[in-house]
Amino acid sequence: MIRLLGLFLSFVATATISSAQQAPEIHILPVQGNVYMLVGAVGNIAVQVSSDGILMVDTGSAQMTDQALATVKQLAKPITNKPLRFIINTHFHPDHTGGNQKARAAGTTITGGNVAGNIQDATEGAAIFAHENVMKRMSAPTGAQAPTPSGGWPTDTYFGDTQELFFNGEAIQMFHPKSAHTDGDSIVFFRRSDVVLTGDIFTTTNYPIIDLQNGGSINGLIDALNLILDITIPAEKQEGGTMVIPGHGRLCDEADVVEYRDMVTIIRDRIQDMIKKGMTLEQIKAAKPTRDYDPLYGSTTGFWTTDMFVEAVYKSLTAKK
Ligand SMILES: [Zn+2]
Ligand SMILES: [Zn+2]
Repeated sequence: MIRLLGLFLSFVATATISSAQQAPEIHILPVQGNVYMLVGAVGNIAVQVSSDGILMVDTGSAQMTDQALATVKQLAKPITNKPLRFIINTHFHPDHTGGNQKARAAGTTITGGNVAGNIQDATEGAAIFAHENVMKRMSAPTGAQAPTPSGGWPTDTYFGDTQELFFNGEAIQMFHPKSAHTDGDSIVFFRRSDVVLTGDIFTTTNYPIIDLQNGGSINGLIDALNLILDITIPAEKQEGGTMVIPGHGRLCDEADVVEYRDMVTIIRDRIQDMIKKGMTLEQIKAAKPTRDYDPLYGSTTGFWTTDMFVEAVYKSLTAKK
């Protein structure tokens, strides 16, 4: 299973090389209320800006941090001269936390106006919120070398099912599904702006990544998609209502999550049935339980192929509890 992380890192590296060739740009998409979506830093980033300052959910891949922070500064300039105060991480993967260290350090200096941060604040930087399992994955047991530098580690962890924060006149809730994409996921809900950031529990670009090595599971992932649907409320005419920012891909609403939840549930049920019939993993792969969804989510190459998804679902369903 080390293979998964290795592939993950090579995915990030590949994305960096190709994006460097194309002179990548970070784009800002106003979502609603005080929340904006930053697209182009590999993992999607959400930014909340108002009179109290700036809050970021996820910081993208390390290679895109300078551009992401410059874009946040531009965005905040006409709105506030207060600094980046808070960072929330949806999970530990480097395409979502790679900018943590720089963003935290920039915490007092990326004010919208030309206001220099005071020295005391500059040493402290922005606070980083995450579930405690994010900390476990980013740090290491005593004596071992930590997978990530300590400057990017969470400063404020929580261990229950929920955590809350109040900033810019808005309640921000974090919901922790126990074992979904990883075992340290947070779904982040901006209650007043009515925007949810899902991390990689929900993506529009691929089948869900179930990081078994780091505590993910297919049934937990479906539970987490249902939790997102508990939070979201559609507007009266189908489209709109609560807006949903996926870990990767385009801006969505509740209907998109319903479709994705149904797809994942149907494929889980098909594979479960095949396991009950005594089919082997190879036979299940050959039976193509994902076939009708492959045009939308499937892949035979790259970081997360259809075969890898089917294998992860199989292993998750047959794992000894
Ligand atoms: Zn991701
Ligand atoms: Zn991830």
